[in-house]
Amino acid sequence: MAYSVSPIGFVRSCFKEKFAIPRQPQLAPAARGVLELIPPFDQGDAVQGLEQVSHVWLLFLFHQALEDKPRLKVRPPRLGGNKSMGVFATRATHRPNGIGQSVVKLDRVEANRLWISGIDLLDGTPILDVKPYVPYADSIAGASNEIASSAPLLIPVQWQPQALEQAQLHALRLQEPLLELIEQCLAQDPRPAYQVPSPEREYGAQFWDLDVRWHYPEPGLIRVLAVVPAN
Ligand code: SAM
Repeated sequence: MAYSVSPIGFVRSCFKEKFAIPRQPQLAPAARGVLELIPPFDQGDAVQGLEQVSHVWLLFLFHQALEDKPRLKVRPPRLGGNKSMGVFATRATHRPNGIGQSVVKLDRVEANRLWISGIDLLDGTPILDVKPYVPYADSIAGASNEIASSAPLLIPVQWQPQALEQAQLHALRLQEPLLELIEQCLAQDPRPAYQVPSPEREYGAQFWDLDVRWHYPEPGLIRVLAVVPAN
């Protein structure tokens, strides 16, 4: 039996590519975006009352990871990418029906859009539903998960002086907490766990309309090298 669902809107996000997006929401509070609602949900009725809510659940499609053949086992990056596990034991993007869920902060409500932060969503992500976070039911004291027992360890992020100046200028232009966004995302060390980076190797990812480049001058330390307009 097949059911069909259709989006109620799409996210405009600071993240223009999958690399360097945090693995869960709330890990980068400076990661901001806008959920643009589409008809018939964009007239105000559908969001009435939502201004009384601080956080919402977003149910969405991993639209850049959809596959025809469902996987039963996946290799979560969190486990280094070399240990496989049942798909239902993980929050992997490759999963039956490609549905994701994230709790995000609701910063502002307008009739046709929701301003959100702490997101882990790619630009253009189709949103299937929005539900209010209900603290008494959604926060479970004593809950445990031995596979992902705590947030990823953070590594220090340093700035090349020129990169810092570039980031400060672009932050003003974009009116966004850009330095915080870069620091919060890179501190989680987006590099695949199996890669041992040499100091010469440069990594890059696009945040907003910017190409951010960094390297690992030594293991466990990131230095931002440049923050320049993306092509
Ligand atoms: N919080 C969600 C969940 O638990 O269902 C997502 C968790 S998933 C591990 C997070 C990763 O999904 C991000 O790091 C990013 O690389 C990827 N991602 C985000 N939006 C996506 C999209 N629209 N299509 C494919 N991958 C996406």
